[in-house]
Amino acid sequence: MIAGKQVLLSRVMTTRFLLIVISMSILGSCQNQSRTKGANLIFISLDTTRFDYVDSGWGAKSKTPVLKNFSKKAQVFEKAFVTIPETLPSHLSIFTSYYPHQLGVTQNHFRYDGKYKLIQEILKHNGYFTYGIISLMSLIEPGFWKDFDEFNSKLCSEEIHHLFLTADKISLHARQKLRDIKNKKFFMFVHFSDPHYPYGPPTVKAIMNIYQDGKKINELNPYKGKILPKIKLLPGIHRFRFDMDYPTSDFQGIGIIELTPDANITAKSENIEFRKDIFSGCYFLTGQSGWMNLECEEEEWIHLQVLPKLKIKAARIMYQQEVEYMDKHIGEFLQGVEEFNLFDNTIIAIFSDHGEGLGERDGLVGHVEYLNQQFIRVPLMIYIPGKTQKIITSPVSMSGLSSTVLELLNLGNENFQHSFINLIEKEDTPNENIYSFTYLPGSKANKISIIKWPYQGIYYWKNNSRNKELYNLILDDSFSPMAQIDRKNLISAEREFFSFFLSDSLRHKKKIGQQKFGKRNINRKKLEKLKRLGYIN
Ligand SMILES: [Zn+2]
Repeated sequence: MIAGKQVLLSRVMTTRFLLIVISMSILGSCQNQSRTKGANLIFISLDTTRFDYVDSGWGAKSKTPVLKNFSKKAQVFEKAFVTIPETLPSHLSIFTSYYPHQLGVTQNHFRYDGKYKLIQEILKHNGYFTYGIISLMSLIEPGFWKDFDEFNSKLCSEEIHHLFLTADKISLHARQKLRDIKNKKFFMFVHFSDPHYPYGPPTVKAIMNIYQDGKKINELNPYKGKILPKIKLLPGIHRFRFDMDYPTSDFQGIGIIELTPDANITAKSENIEFRKDIFSGCYFLTGQSGWMNLECEEEEWIHLQVLPKLKIKAARIMYQQEVEYMDKHIGEFLQGVEEFNLFDNTIIAIFSDHGEGLGERDGLVGHVEYLNQQFIRVPLMIYIPGKTQKIITSPVSMSGLSSTVLELLNLGNENFQHSFINLIEKEDTPNENIYSFTYLPGSKANKISIIKWPYQGIYYWKNNSRNKELYNLILDDSFSPMAQIDRKNLISAEREFFSFFLSDSLRHKKKIGQQKFGKRNINRKKLEKLKRLGYIN
């Protein structure tokens, strides 16, 4: 009897306890929703920023005190991966929660037909004022910027002689805009590109002088590169001379590229050679100075672009400094958020669209081609008002970011796919496998990466050739060298992953094969520019 009472009592207690727990969690989730429902949203995209160069609290290859400080009050994702290492498709994927082949945009110069809703479209329809500012030409695509009430890309086109806008300018304009819209409900997209090639941090003051027939016509910082204004050439021979006032030890050489390749010009030169393998073919200055004679039979216009090819060691130093410079100016923007008292009602996500190879794989400096960690693992931190810092160790796909913040804002979306809100609000246990892709012709093969931590498999195919790579990402923690697993001596966990990876990549390959990819949306000038940035072979 007594034992029966005890059981009954303990059942009542258990039920009460459960009720308390349930009501606390309902209360908690209501509090959470009321905290973020109707909040503003800021996306800060750090183009080309690798995970291991941002200090999110545990050290990094760059000193980024601003981002480190931000991380202290953010949801910090240790393992975030983009769906593609290329600017436009990666941003579209982040803004829609779909993969590039589902969107029909697998390269920078493709047109987006609006098949799936972008986050700004959903927010605009829910009463948000939507504003975007970009620093790089690759995002000038009407399909991407539709549904922004205001989209500042003029800065890029006004300063056509530079390849991207520096962080000081982006931060200044974004902060001014913040002042204008602070009393509205808003979504702001701020895009920094300093770590993008060419790496020329403001501390590097080198000068290259350019002379035409003995007269100086231009000067530039050879680390930063430059697109020169068009030059009219009368029939005859014209001597162009390029002089650097800086020791050339950082450079493999400087590419001098003609943007009007159909001009009928023949060249003779000294210290300048024509190289087919660099920048899809260019004149290449290999010494401290050099000259070339351009001869034309009739009047011609030429359009020169000067781009550096750094040695790996110098590229790493300059890249690091660019990240540090950007960090400082993100700080100025965040000061604006503080000054206008916006931290109480604004969700802020800081992330990157892809990483960057710095010579670890085939000596490549750049992105697009490979799917190793250097190219696809990126920083991701989300500040949510009222939430304390949480370090999240489960891997996530950047394609889940928009779904996650829309859920935080309590806004309906027909498909919250890839959302990782459960990792923020509940337990940090792995959600789903992580997929990334590259596609022909931007990449030399179609590739699929599948990550099931700690393993990554990469499958690639072109015509009849197939290849597979298998990695243990924990062993590749330093990001160099890459720890490829020997497939002849697999342990059981590796064998299990490898078998899953083979069947799953074939399933995705079939889906990709059925897709029709978008049309090019580009004029010739833009095409040339993208070629120089390494986007088109
Ligand atoms: Zn990018």
